[in-house]
Amino acid sequence: MRQPLVAGNWKMNGSAASIDTLMAGLKQGMAEVKTAAVAVCPPFVYISKVAELAKGTKIGVGSQDISDQESGAFTGEVSGPMLKEVGCQYAIVGHSERRAIYGESDAFTARKFAAARKFGLIPILCVGELLEEREQGITEQVVGRQLDAVIELEGIAALGQAVIAYEPVWAIGTGKTASPQQAQDVHAFIRAKLATLDKGVADKVQILYGGSVKGSNAVELFGMPDLDGGLIGGASLTADEFLAICRAPNQS
Ligand code: PEP
Repeated sequence: MRQPLVAGNWKMNGSAASIDTLMAGLKQGMAEVKTAAVAVCPPFVYISKVAELAKGTKIGVGSQDISDQESGAFTGEVSGPMLKEVGCQYAIVGHSERRAIYGESDAFTARKFAAARKFGLIPILCVGELLEEREQGITEQVVGRQLDAVIELEGIAALGQAVIAYEPVWAIGTGKTASPQQAQDVHAFIRAKLATLDKGVADKVQILYGGSVKGSNAVELFGMPDLDGGLIGGASLTADEFLAICRAPNQS
């Protein structure tokens, strides 16, 4: 039985004051979150603060990115040991905004995945197709290629200690959620692909869905058999909305 995970990706949003408010709201509502594990991924500069605020709660903390390097002359980068030291348990890698805006390749993403694991963080590996790729009917090819880069570098067993987030790029921040069946089809493809290499890993790995998840659609989405929770962008910035999503697995 896989425990659902709901992780909030705050992206480049927030301030010290707004984070105090958001975390206070989340802490207040966590008692009603019965089934899902919960994590939030603040901007780097607020991770320490959030980790401090999350102490003694069931709220986990993650980063939105990670360097593929350990230390040294890599201006602007933040390494796995640093993230671990300030209280992260998770590191998102390969978010579509990193891939599209900053040109991060499948191979580079795989190296970040490897760095997260090496330094004791659970990678949340984002995969997903662009709208034109879906329209061309190559969704599975794209998602398969993104997974293969990680499997080639780290081996299939590594995915058993990671989280995968399927995030169709056309659904991110657009209000256009994939239908539960569209999401399920890709999640089932991912699990079946992994099962050809290692059934134990396929059965165990949490596959989150991300793309315009809200309190109003989370129950239906998370009710699909291969959806194990969500990676939540915009809706994770408001305590009530995020908590409604975190409670959704109570009912699925
Ligand atoms: C995301 O950025 O990972 C995401 C899923 O964003 P949103 O929920 O806003 O679509």
